[in-house]
Amino acid sequence: MNPVYLDYAATTPVDPKVAEAMADCLTLEGNFANPASRSHRYGWMAEEAVETARGQLATVINADVREIVWTSGATEADNLAIKGVAEQHGYQGSHIITSSIEHKAVLDTCAHLEQQGVEVTYLQPTSAGVITCEQVAAALQENTILVSLMYVNNEVGSINPISQIGDVCRRANVLFHVDGAQAVGKIKVDVEKDNIDLLSLSGHKFYGPKGIGALYVKRGVKLVAQIHGGGHERGMRSGTLATHQIVGMGVAASLVDDNTKDIKQLRDQLWQGLSQLDGVSINGDEASGVPHILNVAFAGVDGESLLLSIPQVAVSSGSACNSATMAPSYVLKAIGLDDELAHASIRFSLGRFTTQQQIEQTIESVTTAVNRLKGMAA
Ligand SMILES: *Cc1c(COP(=O)(O)O)cnc(C)c1O
Repeated sequence: MNPVYLDYAATTPVDPKVAEAMADCLTLEGNFANPASRSHRYGWMAEEAVETARGQLATVINADVREIVWTSGATEADNLAIKGVAEQHGYQGSHIITSSIEHKAVLDTCAHLEQQGVEVTYLQPTSAGVITCEQVAAALQENTILVSLMYVNNEVGSINPISQIGDVCRRANVLFHVDGAQAVGKIKVDVEKDNIDLLSLSGHKFYGPKGIGALYVKRGVKLVAQIHGGGHERGMRSGTLATHQIVGMGVAASLVDDNTKDIKQLRDQLWQGLSQLDGVSINGDEASGVPHILNVAFAGVDGESLLLSIPQVAVSSGSACNSATMAPSYVLKAIGLDDELAHASIRFSLGRFTTQQQIEQTIESVTTAVNRLKGMAA
């Protein structure tokens, strides 16, 4: 039997309706043409499909279609937003505010910009994994050009007060970039209400395909393109548009359902079961986070051994493989865990196809494994 899939925060399977729409965009009989081909019907049809998808995505975040730029994923969208704004303003003397628990797509991009002379402030989260608007306000400088923060943290599921932080940025006349890869499809995202200038999105985090994403660029916001060659996407991102990927992301967007009552119930059931074990605690704050993620520390248990003893469940650990060594998660460390407890943590992430029976099976597998490992340690 296949293991229970509880790693939806790493990626989601493509929804069958998405797969069907994508398959219709590949062969000669389908909508296969280059959307930039202006001289024939095939091209026009492909362009129409791309624009339909653009509308579907724009609707989900309350944007205008002219504010959506297709990219290869949220990593590229993060790069375009942050490097694009930095290059627009000039590197020397510019200042960017971000946090220490951002995705590597943001952290590595900021580190690169530091090499170019940009000054970067890394805010430290609360123990719940949140950056407050007071912290952002206090970090603003005369030369701040951009604040870049994630909507939802991918490891612990914490939600930042995006609307309030956006308000602080607006008042200070500073651009606000949000990595929304873990937010869309989990909580309501509204670029207007949330005061967002730039928003990174990823198709494969909400039942679309991998290899496609988008950057929302608010009308009037200026940034320098990072990929050149043909001037596609109003000059902001060149390259032939991948019709099948884009159509898939559009259909996935049209299927987004912010009603997460059922998933919350399943997570509560999972925690109810796991909390019977001694020494378990939740990383982050259960009540204020997204319902899809439950990050649990199993004190007194070696995390690697635990993962190896639950082959029936596909989850992520609190350790990241950094080449040869296993490093404890920088996110868990930043919210106050020591190395040992970070290593002994597991992220369970639930999704559209998770069932009650799978949760029961997971509780049973983990309980058996933890008890066995503790018995061996005693
Ligand atoms: C998955 C993820 C990314 C990267 O998205 P890709 O589309 O895989 O490049 C960036 N940020 C966050 C918060 C993510 O969860």
